Amino acid sequence: MVTAVMNKFLVFLEQREGIVKPSSISVWNRVQGLAALDGNSVVSGILAGPVEIGQLDGALGGDGVIYHAKEDGLRVYNQERYSRVIADLFEREACTALFFADTAMTRDMAPRLSVRMQASLLNGNALGEGDAAGVSRRVYSASFLASFVPTRKLRIYILSSSVRVVEFPDGGRINFIDIEPLQSTLKDLFPVVRRIIMGEGPPDVAEARIVVAGGRGMGGVESFALLEQTALLLGGAVGASRTAVDAGWRPHAEQIGQTGKTVAPVLYFACGISGAVQHLAGIGSAGVVVAINSDRDAPIFNVADYGLVGDVHIVLPKLIDLLKEFLKKQ
Ligand SMILES: Cc1cc2nc3c(=O)[nH]c(=O)nc-3n(C[C@H](O)[C@H](O)[C@H](O)COP(=O)(O)OP(=O)(O)OC[C@H]3O[C@@H](n4cnc5c(N)ncnc54)[C@H](O)[C@@H]3O)c2cc1C
Repeated sequence: MVTAVMNKFLVFLEQREGIVKPSSISVWNRVQGLAALDGNSVVSGILAGPVEIGQLDGALGGDGVIYHAKEDGLRVYNQERYSRVIADLFEREACTALFFADTAMTRDMAPRLSVRMQASLLNGNALGEGDAAGVSRRVYSASFLASFVPTRKLRIYILSSSVRVVEFPDGGRINFIDIEPLQSTLKDLFPVVRRIIMGEGPPDVAEARIVVAGGRGMGGVESFALLEQTALLLGGAVGASRTAVDAGWRPHAEQIGQTGKTVAPVLYFACGISGAVQHLAGIGSAGVVVAINSDRDAPIFNVADYGLVGDVHIVLPKLIDLLKEFLKKQ
């Protein structure tokens, strides 16, 4: 008996400067994991802009097709062009759900697409299973876990930029197919006036697999050098509490919490951070939480998987030495 495929998932693989974002790769693998569970779904992807696809070797799990619109006109993000290319492919392939990683580009484009495609827009950390899968995410300073369910047949999901990787040990069997968007899609409705390219550096705190964050307990801007060193050794990013940002020790782009960014790393270090509810709002989806604090009664220890009572100025240099030793042996 032949079973009809019910779900056709399309994953947007975001590139910047020709580099596909790890958060998109993570979403691809999560969606593949979902499809493998229900056994009744196919997954395809879309890449917009010129990209060297060799960079994806071994990174993408599962089976599927990735449609690649290589046009130079798609090299730089443009909301109108990108949403037309994606919506056209979604419709042409009769897809049922579109998946994005939670990035600035997505937040700009997905609401527009949901109106255009008459699709439910769901934004969350955890994704349910099944055809009418909803998402859940923490709300009201992480006091409640809210579930959101789609009300329309077509759905757009924005998944947290968690880079918790779904492993596909055997890799995937992916076919790349070049597509040419309609010329009308590339027409310059909104020309780019100015581009600001950020220099190369550590990953954005919202996308990093490891975050080393500091608060008032770091004592000053200089001590953040310890966190930078730790983050560099671990390939992670530095984060900060609002107090550290308000003091001018770190930029706002690194602030984590209710009025900062939501992070979902596999490993989160809270150094000299008390664990105020507004800070915890930003780390509800973090994997393993390690807290270093001189006050054994600090609330951060209530959410930490590993807690170390001590002075960051003593503990962190020791941690850095141990990490260096460990990495030398690798
Ligand atoms: C509307 C609103 C929105 C907010 N949004 C955010 C937000 O997005 N993000 C955010 O972080 N906060 C936010 N806050 C602020 C929040 O309430 C806390 O004030 C803030 O998180 C505290 O930052 P902190 O943990 O660095 O400082 P503190 O609460 O002062 O804690 C410092 C910690 O460092 C420890 N410590 C001190 N010295 C050392 C040492 N030498 N070694 C080790 N530990 C040491 C202390 O024991 C203490 O636990 C918000 C507040 C409001 C009202």
